[in-house]
Amino acid sequence: MIEVNHLTKTYGNHNAITDLTFQIEEGKIYGLLGPNGAGKSTTMNIMTGCLAPTSGSVTIDGLDIYEDAMEAKKKIGYLPELPPVYLNLTPLEYLTFVAKAKGVKRSEIKDQVAYAIAATRLENYSKRLIKNLSKGYRQRVGVAQALIGNPQIIILDEPTVGLDPLQIIEIRDLIRDLGKNHTVILSSHILSEVRSVCDHLIIIAKGKLVANDTPENLERIFAAKSTVSIVVDGTQADCEKALSSIENLGPVLYTRNSDSTTTAVISIAPDYDINKKIFFAFSKAQKPILSMTNSHVTLEDVFLELTTEKESFGQPEAADPQAESILEPATSESGRSVAETEEHHQ
Ligand code: ADP
Ligand code: MG
Repeated sequence: MIEVNHLTKTYGNHNAITDLTFQIEEGKIYGLLGPNGAGKSTTMNIMTGCLAPTSGSVTIDGLDIYEDAMEAKKKIGYLPELPPVYLNLTPLEYLTFVAKAKGVKRSEIKDQVAYAIAATRLENYSKRLIKNLSKGYRQRVGVAQALIGNPQIIILDEPTVGLDPLQIIEIRDLIRDLGKNHTVILSSHILSEVRSVCDHLIIIAKGKLVANDTPENLERIFAAKSTVSIVVDGTQADCEKALSSIENLGPVLYTRNSDSTTTAVISIAPDYDINKKIFFAFSKAQKPILSMTNSHVTLEDVFLELTTEKESFGQPEAADPQAESILEPATSESGRSVAETEEHHQ
């Protein structure tokens, strides 16, 4: 539906985005994620025809966003990072104005405005001045103006920024609803705020694509870093002996505890049903396991790892912008303790 081909945008000698290529399929909700300055707004401004790329192209259903601007733009509704605000208008007046500006047929204006107001649940606020609305409701007005013209694709630049947790939940529900009738692309620098609504994540860092996959796949690829932590009534030697009977285990980290038990943190392969094997191995060795805790890498861990300094990946500039090269499970995460990893589950 949307093809983004080798987009590069340069400001002076600074590359805001570099060789970005990805596709958007119809009917899904996409999250464009990356820390501040990653190039999200630049990408969205180019995709919506508001900014010219230095090189590369964007096509919407085969229409070039520049060559066939008029037709292509009709397919997109956009909530920019800094939407124009008309504080002294009511949502009803503002949306009517937007409909006229977008060239909606006179006979359809009323219906379209009513649809946008209903879709963003603004019914009870449509006649209040925008300046008297809370930030959350103003943001809904911004989403509503993107819906005018009934575009297939809705692009929202950081729709949750500056909202309180309750408002974030409301906007998230609204986006989920929009996803039933539209293809939605939203950007965020906070994964947890949008993760639950996104079918697909496009993660960029420093203007480059670092991952492009479903949340589930990203989690699975990184699951290689999962561990099982056990506390055993025995010594390290007892643990080593019991574990030696199990194949395919990763490195094990031992700590001797003050109550003469031993904690073993065992790295495990993804999808490897290991808990039973560990249980039986220690049972056979007559060394009781006092506790067993699994720790899985969360998507938040993945996001942080992908978007922090490239140097931490061990192959800084040579990195191919394709996800696979950076998603090597071999990436070291040894600096993070089990306790820290587990915090993400709480
Ligand atoms: P994001 O939306 O992910 O925070 P942006 O797309 O706004 O990132 O910015 C990407 C990079 O491009 C940043 O380093 C930013 O400083 C730079 N940039 C954006 N707009 C301009 C501009 N008009 N002139 C110069 N640099 C810009
Ligand atoms: Mg931005």
